[in-house]
Amino acid sequence: MEARKRVLVTGGAGFIGTHLCARLLKEGCHVICLDNLFTGSEKNITLLKSHPHFEFVFHDVISPYEAEDIDEIYNLACPASPVHYQYDAIKTIKTAVMGVINMLDLARRNGAKILQASTSEVYGDPVIHPQTENYWGNVNPIGIRSCYDEGKRCGETLCMDYYRQNGVRIKIVRIFNTYGPYMLPNDGRVVSNFIVQALQGKPITIYGSGKQTRSFQYVDDLIEGMIRMMDTGDDFTGPVNLGNPGEFTILELAHKIIELTGSGSEIIFKPLPHDDPKQRRPDITLAKQHLGWSPGIPLEEGLMHVIDYFKEQNNRQE
Ligand code: NAD
Ligand code: UDP
Repeated sequence: MEARKRVLVTGGAGFIGTHLCARLLKEGCHVICLDNLFTGSEKNITLLKSHPHFEFVFHDVISPYEAEDIDEIYNLACPASPVHYQYDAIKTIKTAVMGVINMLDLARRNGAKILQASTSEVYGDPVIHPQTENYWGNVNPIGIRSCYDEGKRCGETLCMDYYRQNGVRIKIVRIFNTYGPYMLPNDGRVVSNFIVQALQGKPITIYGSGKQTRSFQYVDDLIEGMIRMMDTGDDFTGPVNLGNPGEFTILELAHKIIELTGSGSEIIFKPLPHDDPKQRRPDITLAKQHLGWSPGIPLEEGLMHVIDYFKEQNNRQE
């Protein structure tokens, strides 16, 4: 019988991490979920905790972590919502840089493969549209988003240097805006904000004119792409874009959510935060070629899952 794969998921109690841990358990892996619970929640992983092959470790990735016999590492630890990553910008950049160094060192010691959760934010406010992986981006190095954008860019640099210098087996995925159940109601990102506001009959807060665009990917599609990326041969490092090319303005998103929830909420306009990217859409040719992957869940269908999830959460609290 083949030995059970031991997989470490940092940031495993966060939104994406929770889905990833559940999927890996389903595939028969032993999962070690490591998290400092900054934006993650133990509530997310309540069900997983009863699984005999699930371990939770309370740990901050800015400190080195020692573990043995690890086969694979998914490095997701990092706040991802602008509200949360700007809350303590210095801590964010430490997480994005020192966290990656610590996990790459752990991968090196264990001979493990490591997948780095990078981001479409490495393209900054892109002037090439849609974004291909060979575009170097347009990033402000000194702005309020820089702790995250530059931190994640440095994370990619570190991965490539550990690959070239130490032969660590690395995989980089650039994740575009992803949404789904297990986002926290106070996450601060646009999909959860609008759905929570619509369900509570509160005003929908559009920042700026609402003409800026994003491409929204449902979390199940992302998880499938991440697993396929981890399973590629050692010579394929990426970076690879994982996102849904369907592009919408934020105003269109607001109207869709009002329609799907049947909400009477009004739309209000608030100031646009500094350096907010004007447009974003992935070119996914590379993912199609190397992973045989493309997203399958349309926006309306995915949004309905999240609407149902937040309704259920509200009912539980009542
Ligand atoms: P999230 O905030 O829900 O999850 C991040 C998790 O990391 C949380 O559980 C948090 O407690 C944990 N964490 C943060 N700092 C830590 C530290 N120093 N030590 C240990 N744990 C720490 O966000 P998410 O949307 O699930 O994002 C997961 C990863 O995917 C992040 O690395 C993020 O940059 C990347 N990503 C996400 C998106 C998206 O749209 N959701 C897009 C691009 C990239
Ligand atoms: N946004 C908005 N209202 C909100 C939250 C976000 O209009 O309540 C806008 C935000 O300014 C940005 C887009 O929605 O233009 C996506 O924001 P999010 O924080 O979800 O992700 P990111 O900016 O990192 O892509």
